[in-house]
Amino acid sequence: MTPPTATSSSDTMNADTVLALRDFHAFEAFGARFLYMVPSAGIFRMDECGSAILDALESGPLSQDDLVETLQGLFDTDRTLETMAELKEIRAIGGPDAPKEEAPKDLPPADFPLNTMVLNVTNKCNLACTYCYEYGEDKIIDTQYGKQPKFMSEDTAEESVEFLLKQSGDQPRAHMTFFGGETLLNFPVLQKTVAYARRRAAEERKTISFSLTTNATLLKPEIIQWLADNDVGVTVSIDGPKPVQDGLRVFHNGRGTYDVVLPKIKELIATHRSRPIGARVTLTQKHLNVLEIYRHLTDELGFKEVGLAPVTTKDHRDYAITPESKDSMLEQFKELAEEWLQHALRDEHHGFTNVTDTIEEIHKGVSKAYGCGAGLGLLGVATDGDVSLCHRFAGSPEHTIGTVADGVDREKQEQFLVDHHIAEKTDCHKCWARPICSGGCYHEAHVQYGDSSHANLHYCTWVRSWTHTCLEIYGALAERNPRFLERFDA
Ligand code: SF4
Ligand code: SF4
Repeated sequence: MTPPTATSSSDTMNADTVLALRDFHAFEAFGARFLYMVPSAGIFRMDECGSAILDALESGPLSQDDLVETLQGLFDTDRTLETMAELKEIRAIGGPDAPKEEAPKDLPPADFPLNTMVLNVTNKCNLACTYCYEYGEDKIIDTQYGKQPKFMSEDTAEESVEFLLKQSGDQPRAHMTFFGGETLLNFPVLQKTVAYARRRAAEERKTISFSLTTNATLLKPEIIQWLADNDVGVTVSIDGPKPVQDGLRVFHNGRGTYDVVLPKIKELIATHRSRPIGARVTLTQKHLNVLEIYRHLTDELGFKEVGLAPVTTKDHRDYAITPESKDSMLEQFKELAEEWLQHALRDEHHGFTNVTDTIEEIHKGVSKAYGCGAGLGLLGVATDGDVSLCHRFAGSPEHTIGTVADGVDREKQEQFLVDHHIAEKTDCHKCWARPICSGGCYHEAHVQYGDSSHANLHYCTWVRSWTHTCLEIYGALAERNPRFLERFDA
């Protein structure tokens, strides 16, 4: 929480100065009023006088003199002038013709360090989930008949480690995450890569942490033990209770996967205790009981963290979420968010990571020039060593920006950064949620509009409503349990 900076009441204003509201989003928590500033992402708590000034300007611009007169009797003139100056300083108010504030189109430096590399160790999968972005109807890469090998070789994986160590620059820590297809189909290479990366990172006086995503069907005791012993974070792709999971997450012969994964997940959670095991849910029109899914995964299966994401697909698919269903999904998200808040007020953990992640961004004052870190701090590597924007684009020639052997093609990367900058997304320039959203996921945009640089306008209402909810939660914590927010300092 950033307090307004006290400034002299006399600077740059005089009695004739006309003032108007500028670009911010107001929200309330426990009766307190806050402003979320755009594009800076700063948050300010309003006192009574600040609120009164904003209310007075609600119906249109006023001169400084008129404002003072309007508030006469409520606040003394000095206080009104001082608060006006503070509001001007944080750019909540200003001249009616002042140009709209935009984050400058500064590109990140060419040597921007790589934090996270996602290795697609295989593009083969033992499941045939209907909505899969890799094999399903909306795939953008020919993983079946394309040029990439089915499995990443040990040599390519080692080259990837060298690439990560080099591209992480001066950063002492880096993260490697393994992805598929089904990641565990290439478990031998995965094991060797972790050992190799640990040794090489130690030689370079760095540390690398590891994680993977799996559908859990191939987990067995020795793999689980290895994951636990090696402190590899695990996210399980799972959609919920048996009827939900078996609806779309099926083997190639159409058999559901729930009964296969259930005992394996329970053993994973019981054995691997160094890091919380997360569940990653894809929501579709077929099953939208968010609360039931969440409760099943946490209360019955024991997941400590659950993240839910609507399916990425074209609108005409029968599993695509309809606009009406998006509203109901949002209401359920809000119910879980309220539960998250009640836990946080008691200093207790709640596993709904959609809230945790957004609160962390709000707390850190994130104001994004890009929808995510893809193509910059995060890169994906295809099975043949091609480097792409992220795991979802791995193997797509259009989104390849280098190879682990030859490095990043800086010209291509720069062109990507130019094309995808928020400054290019004119639809977003009036949106108060842009510091957090910045146009959203490039893969989602590619599937929806055939253009990764397009803003995800089909999700704007959702994004703004969800961000508002998370701001209210942030404000509530700032008011009643600010110590809880300190955990997001690191
Ligand atoms: S995509 Fe929509 S919600 Fe996101 S920043 Fe752009 S206009 Fe706002
Ligand atoms: S482009 Fe989309 S899928 Fe890829 S890292 Fe960004 S948010 Fe994730």
